[in-house]
Amino acid sequence: MRFVSFSSGSCGNCSLLLGSRSGIMIDAGVGIRRVKKELENLQLGLENISAILVTHDHGDHIRSLGSFCKRVGAPVWTTPLLHEALLRHPFTKDWVGPCRQNLTPGVWNPITEDFDVQYFVVPHDATQCVGYAIRSGEELFVLMTDMGHTTPEALHWATLATTVVVESNYDLDMLLGGDYPQELKDRISHGIGHLSNDACAQAICDFMHPGLRNLFLCHLSGNNNTPELAYESARAALQAAGVEPGTVNLRVLRRGIASPLLTL
Ligand SMILES: [Zn+2]
Ligand SMILES: [Zn+2]
Repeated sequence: MRFVSFSSGSCGNCSLLLGSRSGIMIDAGVGIRRVKKELENLQLGLENISAILVTHDHGDHIRSLGSFCKRVGAPVWTTPLLHEALLRHPFTKDWVGPCRQNLTPGVWNPITEDFDVQYFVVPHDATQCVGYAIRSGEELFVLMTDMGHTTPEALHWATLATTVVVESNYDLDMLLGGDYPQELKDRISHGIGHLSNDACAQAICDFMHPGLRNLFLCHLSGNNNTPELAYESARAALQAAGVEPGTVNLRVLRRGIASPLLTL
């Protein structure tokens, strides 16, 4: 498996997971022209997008989904409830219908030649928000973002994963000491908003297991976090969990900046 994040955070979320014969784009919060350009830099193209997975119906995840449906025509896989929301959402309602593919809960959904997918619901203030477990051969890629708090099911999937992408949204002191209105501070931190660096660190201690090779931190706040703080918090968590330095590839996925094409 190979993986590239085109951007991660409230400015836009979009990434691509590549197998030997097919690719899955996860969320469409980055413009299609930029994605095309980033793909060309990697000697890839829009034809490498065989399917699209959507985590939830917030703009930073679906802003460009309409153009991907129109231009790429790849099937859009998500839950029936989220598809209903996409059929009403101004960003997607005119385009997503013909691409609609419903995921079945609790089973492996074979969505491309290389990949089988299961979803799990995570707490977030959207119509519904889901994390994904994506299987290819012996590899298991688990993504959980926009998650107010962890759940036993999310942690369960992460304990089986070879790669975990997990939200590390905010530093609590920066959030509380910052100039967001109290209502917004509450929305972010009160259980159905986003995962703090501390909560992410606790999650890492909970799901750490010897099979984990890659740990990518995603959806960092631009105002209430820094890549250095998030990285250090996760690094300390790995150390506390007894992980030898260098055993797990720890990386921050950046806001508005593409990662390299990572071999998982
Ligand atoms: Zn988001
Ligand atoms: Zn969201």
